[in-house]
Amino acid sequence: MTKEDMHTYQPLQVRKNIALVAHDNKKKDLIEWAEYNKAILQPHQIFATGTTGKLLEQALSIPVVKLLSGPLGGDQQIGSKIAEGVVDFLIFFWDPLEQHPHDPDVKALLRIAVLWNIPIACNRTSADFIISSSLINQPYNRQYPDYSGYLSRELMKA
Ligand code: PGA
Repeated sequence: MTKEDMHTYQPLQVRKNIALVAHDNKKKDLIEWAEYNKAILQPHQIFATGTTGKLLEQALSIPVVKLLSGPLGGDQQIGSKIAEGVVDFLIFFWDPLEQHPHDPDVKALLRIAVLWNIPIACNRTSADFIISSSLINQPYNRQYPDYSGYLSRELMKA
């Protein structure tokens, strides 16, 4: 078995930390989706970028951990919470028809979610499938590659 085949596990509790983000043209869609799924979302902890979070709190009347607005660093904050093992899920309705000043942050967030094997939904149908999974209310062992080989790579060869 090579290092690349090895995996690490992070146990996820029943109560998940779910990050919700929507670009401006997708906010209405995300809020409607969240209202429809309020009963499922309520037992979990919601994180969101600033403006999305404000709209979610108003619409759902549930507490939301609001980070900075996306273009001001909020996407990066969510990425760092994924890397730290805090955020378990990402529902990110990004807009495929508009360019944004923070496009590099959007790409970085999607990359880090894939790197740490976080479930991601980028449109409403994927979000429906993820939220209706029976795993949402069960403990789960999230598997991700063992990066120790990468961390101990030799850098100072003569
Ligand atoms: P916002 O950020 O929720 O603060 O609008 C979302 C984004 O554009 O990433």
